[in-house]
Amino acid sequence: MKKIIIAIDGHSSCGKSSLAKALGTALGYAYVSTGDMYRAVTLYFIQNGVNLEDAGAVHEALRNIRLHFEHGGQGNRIFLNGQDVSQEIRKMPVANLVSPVAAIPEVRREMVRQQQAMGARKGIVMDGRDIGTVVFPKAELKIFLTASVDERARRRFEELKEKGQCVSFEEVKNNLLARDRIDSTRTDSPLLQANDALLLDNTFFNLEQSVEVALDMVRAVLAKLDSPA
Ligand code: C5P
Repeated sequence: MKKIIIAIDGHSSCGKSSLAKALGTALGYAYVSTGDMYRAVTLYFIQNGVNLEDAGAVHEALRNIRLHFEHGGQGNRIFLNGQDVSQEIRKMPVANLVSPVAAIPEVRREMVRQQQAMGARKGIVMDGRDIGTVVFPKAELKIFLTASVDERARRRFEELKEKGQCVSFEEVKNNLLARDRIDSTRTDSPLLQANDALLLDNTFFNLEQSVEVALDMVRAVLAKLDSPA
């Protein structure tokens, strides 16, 4: 069976990572949530007091950052310079700074370079904001995922609450709105739906239903690739 690249883009907290993971598992593909990479870079910037306005400091920081993923029982873990930061990057201090960090062109250039290398052999599901537009513009399947703001905020709020984090619903919703605004209006690779991306609004779907719809899309693409031209 031909291996393809599946690009999933969309707004904050609409379930991109969960969908990428479920599709990757169902298809036997690798899956990567590129938001984790921008979050890990942000954590490094916070820990080391890197000034976002100082191009020299940003450049130096990027030279000192090594990211890698390890596939464990609970899914992908991300490591920053050898340390597992998978929990730390989900907390509010990182969420509050990640979009300004991800808007820095040099940060994006370096992340995109690493992401393209990961997909060189295909058989990968990658989610983020610019996967179908910039990282893999030739991906065989592009999905643009979205859901209503209130539903997205509710899901993220429940997730944080379950992890014992003390945040209010308003704080979570405002963070989503702020990130959406920065991500959609930045000059370098803004979040937008690629012309050839399929829209999946999962406001009224659970994960299982979203996965079913996405798997139908995958089957359709694979059938087209297999059929004689
Ligand atoms: O996907 P997640 O919500 O974890 O991403 C965190 C942030 O990383 C986003 O709000 C966005 O600012 C940035 N990001 C990006 N491009 C990607 C993935 C994430 O700019 N491909």
